[in-house]
Amino acid sequence: RNGPTLVCAPIMAESVGKMVANMEKAKQGGADLVEIRLDSLKSFNPHEDLKNLIKECPLPTLFTYRPKWEGGQYDGDEKKRLDALRLAMEFGADYIDVEIQVAREFNDSIYGKKPEKFKVIVSSHNYVDTPSVENLGNLVARIQATGADIVKIATTAVEITDVARVFQITVHSQVPIIGIVMGEKGFISRILCPKFGGFLTFGTIESGIISAPGQPTMKELLHLYNFRLIGPDTKLFGIIGKPVHHSKSPMLYNEAFKSVGFNGVYVPLLVDDVANFFQTYSSADFSGFSCTIPHKEAALKCCDEVDPVAKSIGAVNCIIRRPTDGKLIGYNTDYVGAISAIEDGLRGSHNSNNTGDSPLAGKLFVVIGAGGAGKALAYGAKEKGARVVIANRTYDRAREIADTVGGDALSITDLDKFHPEDGMILANTTSIGMQPKVDETPIPKHALRSYSLVFDAVYTPKMTRLLREAEESGAVIVSGLEMFIGQAYDQFERFTGLPAPKELFRKTMANY
Ligand code: NAP
Repeated sequence: RNGPTLVCAPIMAESVGKMVANMEKAKQGGADLVEIRLDSLKSFNPHEDLKNLIKECPLPTLFTYRPKWEGGQYDGDEKKRLDALRLAMEFGADYIDVEIQVAREFNDSIYGKKPEKFKVIVSSHNYVDTPSVENLGNLVARIQATGADIVKIATTAVEITDVARVFQITVHSQVPIIGIVMGEKGFISRILCPKFGGFLTFGTIESGIISAPGQPTMKELLHLYNFRLIGPDTKLFGIIGKPVHHSKSPMLYNEAFKSVGFNGVYVPLLVDDVANFFQTYSSADFSGFSCTIPHKEAALKCCDEVDPVAKSIGAVNCIIRRPTDGKLIGYNTDYVGAISAIEDGLRGSHNSNNTGDSPLAGKLFVVIGAGGAGKALAYGAKEKGARVVIANRTYDRAREIADTVGGDALSITDLDKFHPEDGMILANTTSIGMQPKVDETPIPKHALRSYSLVFDAVYTPKMTRLLREAEESGAVIVSGLEMFIGQAYDQFERFTGLPAPKELFRKTMANY
């Protein structure tokens, strides 16, 4: 299809007056058109209301009057419903949406009467799953056969890999097509449609006022994902995790891509099964990935080559698809940022001796957690000459790292009484204390007295309960934000081949 993908704001309100107010917001927010959901009106007088809605709307209009049997709110007579849509056409609507079940009859009824600019979208909604490519292809053909000007298929993502089938259908469609995969796991379908040639996407005027599950806000589309800059050649990046919605990485990378003029977009990827994800999204355009809980170890096994440091840690947090042969190369950049931030913290607190030796040398370094981040920190601290102790909920996992890296293991409950010496260093690498459970902490406050520096890998919130109590106990504190920024510099350079805009990274993170 020619022309950029449009941004359509769904307008759902109980009264015409509220709808008109929202249309204005949609325009100010940068929408290209509005979808007026007639079925959301409490009372509806077609002649008067349609005329007003069209007259007052500052943007092109799409009218939808969704019946209950297709997931909408209209529960009345079918003839009245379709009459209202015909009236909208006569009054100057730009688009209307009719359901595939009634589309043939509807299109026959307006044959020869369609105003020139007016287009009929014929839609199909599947609230359960996403059919096979073959079945989707058949569905598109059936929709076309009803006389549709524009095809709309909305399916539901059970897994993120379902979205790939809708991308495939969209990119090969001969007619204008709207391909949407609903639900949290279908989120990327809403962001990446300009890459695959989708006719439009939906962006809400406010968060929470959605007309279908998984819709982003217009603001997110336009300002977080830089929607207008996405095109067929845009390279895709993302953070693989479960959950991922809390991640600040999309904000950081998209802003940085834009600032250096790099044609890429970075999205959250809510993945259940990493191996399946990489098998499905295997094209060159899926260029690079960050990897977070709980997939860092499983992702390593999906890589064709693994950097030696990542291999010894046993986890990857960054995967690049090598442009020359499409192979996946895994790295671990987690420890770099954290260890150097901890060293800086120690130097500051000890009035830095500039001998070049790490201030970690000889220190007792206690790591809480034995996941990807825990291993990385233990590895990094050991490299700097620290004596390492790993404390974990599952003792056996702590034991395993201690044996690999060289150190001691504890159960997390033993931390309470663990104080062989003063001036130890503590690094929390579990998700304890992360939003929304901000009242939790991995170690009782009284035990913090034996530590001179406390680091927390959690960075949402920036000031965790652990850090607050550590500060109150007189320790130097280092926030997870430092680790985050440090690994982000590194990943940005691997993703783009360009130096990371360090000042911008700091500014972006400080603003949030
Ligand atoms: P992971 O591989 O899934 O490991 C999670 C670790 O946390 C395991 O040791 C697990 O113990 C422990 N754990 C989880 N919930 C717990 C609970 N309720 N009580 C006790 N222990 C618990 O995760 P990861 O990739 O290492 O990441 C861990 C944390 O670090 C996350 O909060 C992540 O956001 C943060 N992180 C931050 C940065 C940054 O840049 N600031 C970078 C990487 C990670 P078991 O072994 O007993 O299951």
